Amino acid sequence: MPANYTGAKMKNPLIDTRDQKFVLFEVLGIDSLTQYEKFSQFDHDTFEATLDLIENICVNQCYPHFADADREGCSFDAGTGEVKLPESVKKPLRAYYDAGFIGMNESPEIGGMGLPQSIGAAGMEFISAAHQPLLMYGALAHGSMKLIAKFGTEYLKKTFVQRMMRGEWGGTMCLTEPQAGSDVGRLAAKAVKQPDGTYRITGQKIFISAGENDFYSNIIHPVLARIEGDPEGTKGISIFIVPKFLADENGNPGKRNDVKCIGIEHKMGIKGCVTCTMSFGDDGNCVGYLLGNEREGMKIMFNMMNDFRMGTASQAQGVSSAAYLHAASYAKGRMQGTALKDMNNPSAAMVPIVEHPDVKRMLLWMKSYVDGQRMLVYSMYYNMDLAKVLTGDAQKEAAGIVDFLVPICKAGCSDRNTLITSEAMQVFGGYGFCSDYPIEQMMRNSKILCIFEGANGIQGIDLVMRKILMNPGQFNYGVFKKRILASVNDARKSGVDDKYIAPVERGVARLDEYVETMKAWTGKFMFGQVLSGATPFRKAIYMLAIAWMHVWSLTVAFPKMKSLTGDLTGAELKKFLAENSEAAFYYSRVLTSRFFITEEFPQFFGMMDALSGDEWTVLEAGDEAFPGTVEL
Ligand SMILES: Cc1cc2nc3c(=O)[nH]c(=O)nc-3n(C[C@H](O)[C@H](O)[C@H](O)COP(=O)(O)OP(=O)(O)OC[C@H]3O[C@@H](n4cnc5c(N)ncnc54)[C@H](O)[C@@H]3O)c2cc1C
Repeated sequence: MPANYTGAKMKNPLIDTRDQKFVLFEVLGIDSLTQYEKFSQFDHDTFEATLDLIENICVNQCYPHFADADREGCSFDAGTGEVKLPESVKKPLRAYYDAGFIGMNESPEIGGMGLPQSIGAAGMEFISAAHQPLLMYGALAHGSMKLIAKFGTEYLKKTFVQRMMRGEWGGTMCLTEPQAGSDVGRLAAKAVKQPDGTYRITGQKIFISAGENDFYSNIIHPVLARIEGDPEGTKGISIFIVPKFLADENGNPGKRNDVKCIGIEHKMGIKGCVTCTMSFGDDGNCVGYLLGNEREGMKIMFNMMNDFRMGTASQAQGVSSAAYLHAASYAKGRMQGTALKDMNNPSAAMVPIVEHPDVKRMLLWMKSYVDGQRMLVYSMYYNMDLAKVLTGDAQKEAAGIVDFLVPICKAGCSDRNTLITSEAMQVFGGYGFCSDYPIEQMMRNSKILCIFEGANGIQGIDLVMRKILMNPGQFNYGVFKKRILASVNDARKSGVDDKYIAPVERGVARLDEYVETMKAWTGKFMFGQVLSGATPFRKAIYMLAIAWMHVWSLTVAFPKMKSLTGDLTGAELKKFLAENSEAAFYYSRVLTSRFFITEEFPQFFGMMDALSGDEWTVLEAGDEAFPGTVEL
C-alpha cells in the first residue's frame, strides 16, 4: 500500500447495493411480479431482505477468502486421483449452501425458495464479485441438478435432486474433449446400452470444472457421448448421468463408479475452482444413465449451457463491479500530483488522484459499463421471470428478448470485463500489478469468461445466424428494436435532453441497415461476409444495448434528480450533493449516462462504418497473410 494512502476501508467493496435496488425496483419494477400467483408469496420487504442476506454472506463470509483461494489453489494426488480443495473454498461454499443460495430460484417442491430470477441475478453478481470460483461449484451443482429434475427418470430424480440441493452431492458438465472444443459434434466418448437399461461409457473429457474434489461426498457428471452406431455430428449425441459413486439401495454413495480424475490444469486464474481431466470407463465399467431420449443430448445440454451463458454475463458483471469499486475507492485515497489550478506550483499540496481529469475519465468509463451492464443483465433475467407469468404475445416477446440477449450479454460483458479489470489496474498504477491488491487477481480471473460456455467468437456466430438470420421473420431482433424505440419515446416524455436520446435512435436505424445487408448476403449465399463480421457486429450491438440502458436509466433517474436538486448549479449543487446521498446517487447515474451516450457511444457509428466497408481483407487473407510458424 502506498505510504501516503489516505483512503478509508470500504464496508462493501463489491457491489453498489443502492444501484442494485435502483435497477430492480425503480427501473424494472420487479415488485409488480408479486401480482402473479407464481410470486404472490413475496413482497417488496422479502425481496429487500433477500438482497440484504446476499450482501451479508458475500461481504462477510465469501470475500474474505477470495485472495487465499487463489494463493492456496487446489491439489491433486496422482496416486489416488483425488483433489483437495482449500478451506478458503470450502468455508464460503458451506456458507453458500447454508444460505440456501442454490435453490434461490427453484420451486419450493424441490426445496427451493421460488424467488424471481431477477433477484437471482443480483445474487449471482454479488457472489461472483466476492469469490468467482466459488460460484462455479454452486452453479455446476445447480445446473446439473436442474437437468435431472427436468429430464431425469423417477429413479434419477428421487436419488439425486434433493442431495444435490442440500449440497451433499455436486455436479459438473462434461462436453469438451481434446479434439472437440467449440466443435462439440466431434466428440469421441462412447456409450453402449446394457440389458438393464443403463449404458457403459468410455472416453476422456478435459477442462472439467469441479470434476473432482473433496467438498462433496458424490459428484454427478452429465456427460455427452455417442451411442454406438448413432450418426456423426451433434445429431448423434446423447447425454448420460454418470455419478462418481453409484447410489446404494438407500440412495447413499455406494460402489465407486469407473470414472476418475487423471490430472488437473494449472491456470492463470480462478485457481480455487479445480479444472480436471476426467477419464471414463478405463476398466470398461463406467455406468451411465440416459437423460431424456437417445440422440437428444445437445438439445438437453443446451438447457444448462443457456443458463450458464447468462450466468457468465452475471459473473463478468460481478467482477467488473468489484474492480470498478476498488479503483474508485483507491483513487480517492492515493495522493499524487497537484490540483489543476496548482499545476505550476511544485510545493502545492498533493491531491488524491481522483481529482485528475484522466483518472476521472477512467472511473467514469468503467462505471458507465458497470451501470449499463447491470441494467442489461438484470433486465434479461427479469424478462425470464415475465416469460413465466405472462401469456400470448407478451409472453412470446419476453422469451424472445431473453433469447436474443444471451449471446450479447455473455460475450459483451465478458469482453468488457477484461477491459474493466485492466483499466482498474491502471488506476492502481504499479500497486495494482502487485498482489497487495486483488485487482491483478480479478484481471487474471476475468479472461476465462470470454473462453468457456461457448468462446465469444462462437457467440457472435450464434447471434447473427441463429438469433437473427434463422429466426423466423427476425422476430427476436424486432422485439429488441421495438423495446429500444419504446425507451426512446419514454425518455422524450420524461424531459431528458434530446442530445442523449437521438444518438440511440440513430443507432437503431444504422443497425437495421446492416441487418438488411446481412439478409441480402444470406440470400446470395455470401456467408463469408456474414461470418467475418459476426464479432464486430456483436460488439457493436452490445454498445447499442448499453446505450439503450442509459437512455432508460436517464428516464428514471433524471426526473428524480431534478426533483431533489431543483435548479441548483455549481458550488451550491456540489454542497447539496455532499449532504444528500439520494440526490448524489441520481446525479451520479445521470452523469454516467450522459458520459456514455456522448463520449463512448459515438464509437458505435465507427464500428458500423467499418462493418459496412467493401475491402473484405479478412476473406482475402489466406495462410500467406500470416507468414512464419513457430514451434509451440
Ligand atoms: C478453466 C476452464 C474451465 C472449463 N470448464 C469446462 C467444463 O466444466 N466443461 C466443459 O465441457 N468444458 C469446459 N471448458 C472448456 C471450454 O468450454 C473450451 O475451452 C471452449 O469451449 C473452447 O474450446 P477450445 O478450448 O477447444 O478452443 P477451440 O474450439 O479450439 O477454439 C479456439 C478459437 O477458435 C475459435 N473457433 C473455433 N471454431 C470456430 C468456428 N467454427 N468459427 C469461428 N471461430 C471458431 C474460437 O472462437 C476460439 O477463439 C473449460 C475450459 C477452461 C479453460
